[in-house]
Amino acid sequence: MQITVIGCGYVGLVTAACFAEMGNRVACVDTSAERVEALHRGISPIFEPGIEALLQTNHAAGRLTFSSQLNPVLRNSEVVFIAVGTPSAADGSADVSQILEVAAQLGGALESPTIVVCKSTAPVGTACRVQSILDQHCQRRGVNWRHSVVSNPEFLKEGAAIDDFMRPDRIILGAEDASAERTMRRLYEPFVRNHDRILCMPRRAAEMTKYAANTFLATKISFINEVANLCESLGVDVEEVRKGIGADPRIGHHFIYAGCGYGGSCFPKDIRAMLHMAQEREMQLPILQAVEARNQAQKTWPMRMLRKLYSEGVAGKTVAIWGLAFKPGTDDIRDAPSRVLIEGLLDLGARVQAFDPIASENIAKAYPEAVARGQLRLFSDPYAVLNDADALALITEWKQFRQPDFALMARLMREPVIVDGRNQYDPAVLGTFGFRHVGVGRVPMD
Ligand code: NAD
Repeated sequence: MQITVIGCGYVGLVTAACFAEMGNRVACVDTSAERVEALHRGISPIFEPGIEALLQTNHAAGRLTFSSQLNPVLRNSEVVFIAVGTPSAADGSADVSQILEVAAQLGGALESPTIVVCKSTAPVGTACRVQSILDQHCQRRGVNWRHSVVSNPEFLKEGAAIDDFMRPDRIILGAEDASAERTMRRLYEPFVRNHDRILCMPRRAAEMTKYAANTFLATKISFINEVANLCESLGVDVEEVRKGIGADPRIGHHFIYAGCGYGGSCFPKDIRAMLHMAQEREMQLPILQAVEARNQAQKTWPMRMLRKLYSEGVAGKTVAIWGLAFKPGTDDIRDAPSRVLIEGLLDLGARVQAFDPIASENIAKAYPEAVARGQLRLFSDPYAVLNDADALALITEWKQFRQPDFALMARLMREPVIVDGRNQYDPAVLGTFGFRHVGVGRVPMD
């Protein structure tokens, strides 16, 4: 099939590369000339394990092309995916202006009936808005055919995106005409060969499914964080509780790890968007309001612990940070808990020495002044950040932090203190190396 994917970000590039890998011809379009230029040089503008090789091989095979011009690539496209951003607007709603702008461009450019797929996460009713924009263009041009708009939200996880796309748990298709549904099923067929995991439903239900999925996952995280806080004050280890409740298959072990909050480009903005959808209908969603509030508070947990540890204040202290990305496996720092800690430490006059396997560059771009002042220093070696550090805060649970050389760490640090924002370490083991360990919902601090 001939496909166009608009938006070369995490979702667009993975979608494009995976469809090309299955033998389709895919044109990727992005307004960022910088991104397109990098792609032409074989460089992925985003970090995602395996993406660069997939882009390179499919580009070399002639199945994948990159362009900053939409009109020329649309010719013969049977399916056009919209995978542009839907960031939070100031009022918390999802800003769908990038989608609507693309829809208007498509309306003016498409020469024959085409399936236009909304892959971006967008509020209920967005696919209908795209349909009416396209319909208006068709009317104005006096043609007697219509485009078909499909909602096909994406569920990939950054860091495991290619595997998620290639072996999806489910594919949600919100389609309102049978022919578009058939084409979409055919397109996804290679990804669901062993059993059909395609769920078809009305477009509005598809849009809501994405929000309900993300906000449910965020709820699980905020729930365990709330339990962890109570555990902390009762002297109960939340790790024991987590294992105890996770053994119940109705609860399960996924997404019940206590920690210093969730971040990223999806959960925070999708909760805000869902709250806004309710607000527009003069409804309240108290559960989701609480989920969001708990997460905001949870992101301040590392800073609160450091302030508790240093009653004299953190000004002048050197704090090392391990992990800057919002989660392991990505360079994405959007809404990352590390940023709340960095900003708090900078405000209070502490020095920050940080390491992340891949997200450091993005952090350096986000805080250029602090870097220029030397108050925020980024290192390419995890142990180098520990030199003369008064504490280490573990914020992102990259695998390489699981079994570090504790003896070396204790020698390098001025004070052997670990604020473990992801409950990665066994306090008893750390104790044998002379560390003071503070975990989320674990041993209470004296
Ligand atoms: P992103 O910011 O990484 O990429 C969006 C891309 O769209 C950018 O490269 C931007 O330059 C491009 N763009 C903007 N306007 C354009 C236009 N008019 N024409 C062409 N290109 C244009 O975003 P993302 O993380 O890939 O997310 C895209 C959507 O998918 C969002 O709605 C997001 O909520 C959703 N989503 C994201 C993830 C994730 O893990 N990142 C997972 C599932 C769903």
